[in-house]
Amino acid sequence: MKETEFLIVGQGIAGTHVAWFLEKAGRSFHIIDNAHAQSSTKIAGGLINPITGRRFVKSWRIEDLLPFAKTTYQEMEEFTKMPLFKELAIIRYFQSIAEGNNWVTKTAYEGYEKYLRTDPLQQDLSEIINDSGGYGIVNGAKVQVGPIIHFFQQYYLQKERLHQEQFDYSQLVIQNEGVQYKDIHAKTLIFCEGFSAKANPWFTALPFESAKGEVLILKIPQLSISYIIKKNQFIVPLEKDLFWFGSNYEWDDLTNIPTAKGKAYLEERLADILKVDYEIVDHLAGVRPVLKDRRPALGRHPAHRSIAILNGLGTKGASIGPYWAKHLVDHLLEGTVLDTEVDIGRFFN
Ligand SMILES: Cc1cc2nc3c(=O)[nH]c(=O)nc-3n(C[C@H](O)[C@H](O)[C@H](O)COP(=O)(O)OP(=O)(O)OC[C@H]3O[C@@H](n4cnc5c(N)ncnc54)[C@H](O)[C@@H]3O)c2cc1C
Repeated sequence: MKETEFLIVGQGIAGTHVAWFLEKAGRSFHIIDNAHAQSSTKIAGGLINPITGRRFVKSWRIEDLLPFAKTTYQEMEEFTKMPLFKELAIIRYFQSIAEGNNWVTKTAYEGYEKYLRTDPLQQDLSEIINDSGGYGIVNGAKVQVGPIIHFFQQYYLQKERLHQEQFDYSQLVIQNEGVQYKDIHAKTLIFCEGFSAKANPWFTALPFESAKGEVLILKIPQLSISYIIKKNQFIVPLEKDLFWFGSNYEWDDLTNIPTAKGKAYLEERLADILKVDYEIVDHLAGVRPVLKDRRPALGRHPAHRSIAILNGLGTKGASIGPYWAKHLVDHLLEGTVLDTEVDIGRFFN
């Protein structure tokens, strides 16, 4: 029998950050994860884009979430001895005159000066990128989400705290003071299963409106950039001449299976951006765990207090995951009050 304070189900960005903050607080935990190769986190671009949409609006609570994410990833860098967080410019190519005008207006707004830049690019990409509409520069960042997941997977396996298997909901026994799952007894179970929580019998109240996304890994020999390109889709430099390109939104087919339709859509977008040849090296798909109100959901189950959840990281797990994982851990360890905007209780009234 394994006796532990916490059992975490799911080791995507949500479960990994929860484990990180529990470990920092010196608390005991075990993790169960089925090591799915195409979890949302494993295929994500890891982009942090503080200014979104055609009207260039600040991303939700970015002033708090981004500095906290940066500090967390920098602490992880010290721990893992790996480069995990990088501030990167996002070159935002405009698709219409209206978009360009919106940009100019926004650059004059108070509080936007640290996110929007008007200086010209040092590199001439006009032979490679279709830049006829002009561009602006956003101060963004990139997080190495894949390597983070991989590092902590190996770390917890070595510590015999990660169990690579499918969590079987029918085997969970919820007791007054804790939960029993096979040979593990925990005081609190924290579900971090991403989109798969749709099958979780205790959280059927969560109104998922999840969106599948497909990604192409491209080889573009003629492109050499140290920033991100956005023109409808994102081109993110990986290594040498490899790039992450994505992603579309699909609400009907919620499988992790890449499709010909998704690929055709992405290639069409690519034709609008790139003027040079490319080769498709890989094609991946994952499902973003999005809730109806586009906000995360966290906290203890209102009726079963020994089970809790962190979900709904949506399209922004890299930037919002650290802050809300800490918020949940503080709540579970110290009884701090949950922010009403993210409190799971909003779906149980
Ligand atoms: C195409 C695409 C591009 C994206 N790009 C970005 C981006 O650039 N920037 C950004 O911030 N966000 C991006 N996202 C969103 C981001 O990936 C999500 O917000 C985030 O990964 C969600 O993390 P999670 O831990 O909640 O879920 P997941 O990453 O899905 O992790 C859940 C984990 O739980 C495991 N699991 C589930 N059920 C069970 C079970 N029953 N038993 C055992 N294990 C289980 C899964 O295998 C997985 O390991 C993107 C998403 C997609 C699909």
